Amino acid sequence: MADFLLEELGGRTYYIPGPVNIGLYVDEGNVYLIDSGNDKDAGRKVGKIIRERGWNLEMIINTHSNADHIGGNQFLQKSFSCRIGASQKEIPFIEYPEFEPMFLWGGYPHRKIEHKFLQAQPSHVTDVLAAGQTLGDSGLGIVGLPGHFIDMIGINTPDGILFAADALFSEHIINKYHIFYLFDLEQFLSTLNYLDQCTGRIIVPSHALPAESREDLHALIEINRNKIAEICQVIENICKEPKSPDEIIADICSWYHLEMSSAQYVLIGSTVRSYLGYLEKKERIRTIPEAYMMKWLST
Ligand SMILES: [Zn+2]
Repeated sequence: MADFLLEELGGRTYYIPGPVNIGLYVDEGNVYLIDSGNDKDAGRKVGKIIRERGWNLEMIINTHSNADHIGGNQFLQKSFSCRIGASQKEIPFIEYPEFEPMFLWGGYPHRKIEHKFLQAQPSHVTDVLAAGQTLGDSGLGIVGLPGHFIDMIGINTPDGILFAADALFSEHIINKYHIFYLFDLEQFLSTLNYLDQCTGRIIVPSHALPAESREDLHALIEINRNKIAEICQVIENICKEPKSPDEIIADICSWYHLEMSSAQYVLIGSTVRSYLGYLEKKERIRTIPEAYMMKWLST
């Protein structure tokens, strides 16, 4: 992995670009870290950057509990005795990371999904964060950005920068993977609408370059919205004949030429089931029992 480099975004706000962007807000030498990277190695590199500058790690704010955002937590909390803040419903997944493979698989997990990409090391959350809250004297604002995961938050810094976590993905990721992980489509789309009205701020997604202009942000939001609409349509087309969830997953992977692995299967599978839940609530598809299987049919 390439070395981590600290980049200024403005004022006291910095970030470390990477596969998972990591944010820093430095208040008189006290660092508020926004997510901790995807593993222990990321935590070690972030810790080195903080120490080299003579800063102290005050707190890790986890935007949500997915393993790639909390992977450095345990190492950094042991090294700095720092606080960890997260929203209420994400806390169990951070303190008991085995819940993530259980949740994605929907049962007792098998060994191929118990690796670090889906299961981080446990850490202790000290601060419960809620949307609308301002964090102590730091001036950091907590923003609710639900949809991608159950109770995801973003962080507004006093420098006009919003760390937007996985509320939107890069064009590259969308064109490569098509099915990006989602839990609640309705909320994901509402969160996109919210971001579309965030004027005058630099938006820093976790898996895309910072959007510095209103036009860049709007274009990226449109790419995210359009892909979701497209996938809904693809599923409706697939379900013109009754199909089981596994048949739908196979048809989608074939449509987009997606390679299958155990990790991909649970991520795509969980996301497809979320699409089915959304489309069922919109009365665009319905369940139909057939030959001892629960199938789905377009209405
Ligand atoms: Zn992520």
